Amino acid sequence: MLNKRTIIVGGGMAGVCAAIASKKLGGNPLLVERYGFLGGTSTASMVSPFMNYYLGDKPLVKGIFQEILDELEKYNGKKHKSRAFDSETLKIVLFEIMDKYEIEYLLHTYFTDVNIENNKIKSIVLESKSGKEILEGDFFIDTSADADLAFKSNVPFEIGRKEDGLTQAMTLMFRIANVNINKVLEYCKKNPENFLFIENDVNGVSIAGFKKEIEEERKNGNYDNPLDYIFFVTTHRDDLIIVNTVRILYSSGINNRDLTKAQSKSHKLAWQIYKLLKNKVPGFDDSYISNTATQIGVRETRRIIGEYTITGLDIVNASKFQDKIARGNYPIDIHDPTGGGGKMIRLKEGEYYDIPFRSLIPKNIDNLLVAGRCISATHEAQASIRITATCAAMGEAAGFASSLCIINNVSPKNLNVEELQKYIKHNIEF
Ligand SMILES: Cc1cc2nc3c(=O)[nH]c(=O)nc-3n(C[C@H](O)[C@H](O)[C@H](O)COP(=O)(O)OP(=O)(O)OC[C@H]3O[C@@H](n4cnc5c(N)ncnc54)[C@H](O)[C@@H]3O)c2cc1C
Repeated sequence: MLNKRTIIVGGGMAGVCAAIASKKLGGNPLLVERYGFLGGTSTASMVSPFMNYYLGDKPLVKGIFQEILDELEKYNGKKHKSRAFDSETLKIVLFEIMDKYEIEYLLHTYFTDVNIENNKIKSIVLESKSGKEILEGDFFIDTSADADLAFKSNVPFEIGRKEDGLTQAMTLMFRIANVNINKVLEYCKKNPENFLFIENDVNGVSIAGFKKEIEEERKNGNYDNPLDYIFFVTTHRDDLIIVNTVRILYSSGINNRDLTKAQSKSHKLAWQIYKLLKNKVPGFDDSYISNTATQIGVRETRRIIGEYTITGLDIVNASKFQDKIARGNYPIDIHDPTGGGGKMIRLKEGEYYDIPFRSLIPKNIDNLLVAGRCISATHEAQASIRITATCAAMGEAAGFASSLCIINNVSPKNLNVEELQKYIKHNIEF
C-alpha cells in the first residue's frame, strides 16, 4: 500500500467509486462523509432509478458501478436489468463494499476548511461531535457535489444559469407503500390523454400525468406544487413507488436559509401530492407514505472552473476527447428554477459524448481532483453529466488518477492520461 494518503470529501456514488479505485491501485484512501451512511443523493435524497447508462445494449458505465449493481441484485435491492433500485438496500451494499476493500471512512464528519501551501492542499479541517480536527493528506478528491473543498481552496467556480445564477429546481423524493400498481395502471390506461406517458417494462412502471386531478385540486385550493403533472416510478417492488414531483423554485442548495425553507415546504407539498393520489386514484386506497428522503434533492450548485469546461454543445454534438475518462448519453434535462416547466434536449439516436479528464482538474491547486456533479461544465452540460452512473464513472477515474499521481509524483495536469485510461477501459471503450 502507498504510504501517501488520498482524502476524499463526500461519500456519494462518485466518492465511493473514487475511494475504491484509489485502493485498487494500492492507494491509501480515507473518505469523509457528513451523514451516517454512504450513497449521497442516491440514498440521502432517495433518488432512483439510475438513469440510462446504456447505448442500445452496450453499457456506457461498468467497472465499480457494475460491482455495486451486482451487489444490489444479490441483496434483492434491484431486479436484473432494471434501472430501479432500493435506496435502503444501497446503504448496506455500500458499507459491505467499502469494508470488503478495507477502506477507511469517517461518517458524521463535516469538511469545513482547508490549509494551502504553494498551490497544494496540506490539510483539511473537519468538524464533528468530537470537535474540530485537522487531517493531513497528500492528494485530495472533492466529491462533495457542491465543490466544498475546491471552493475553500479558492478554485474558481460558476453557479446556475448564465443570465441570473439560478439553479435547477429542488425535489424532495418520497415513497408511497402498499400501492396496487395494477389498479393504478388500469385507471391510467382508461384516460391516456390525461398522461404524458404510462410505461411498464423491464425497468418497472413509470407514470407521468394526472393533469385533470391536479387541475381539480388546484381549484379547491389543495394543491400548490408548481409542476403540472405527477411523476412516479416503481422501485424494486411493484407496491412501493418513488415520487419525483415536488418542486422547490428560486432556492440555492448552498444556502442554509433556502434549504431550511425548502425542506419545510417540500414536506407539505409531498403530503398534498400523496392525498391527491390516495383520494382520487384507484390503487392508492390503502397506501401510505413510507418515508421521505433525509435531505431534499439538490440537482445543481457550484461547478468548478477546470482545465476544460464541457458545454451544452459538447453534449448535443456528442463530442469526443483524447483524454476521455467517462461517457454518457443522458439528455440535457433542466428542471426550471422558476416554474413548473423544463428543457429536455436529446442527443441524436445512437450517440454518446465523452467527459475529458481536464474537466476534473481544477484551476489553481496541484493535488486536487473533482468528480461528480460539480465538475467543470456549463449549466446546460451539467444537466446531462449529473446522472448517477456518469458521476460514478468520473469518481472511478479520479480515484485511479489519484494513485497514479502519487506513484509518479506528478500533478493531475502532468499525468500521462493514457496510463490512466488503461485502468478504465470499460468506461471509455466498447
Ligand atoms: C431530485 C433529483 C432527481 C434526480 N433524478 C435522477 C435519476 O432519476 N437518475 C439519475 O441517475 N440521476 C438523477 N439525479 C442526479 C443524481 O442523483 C446526482 O447528480 C448524483 O447522484 C450526484 O452524485 P455525486 O456523487 O456527485 O454527489 P452526491 O450523491 O450528492 O454525493 C455528495 C456527498 O458529499 C457529502 N458532502 C457534501 N458536502 C460535504 C461536506 N462539507 N463534508 C462532508 N460530506 C459532504 C454529501 O452528504 C453526499 O454524501 C437526480 C438528482 C436529484 C437531486
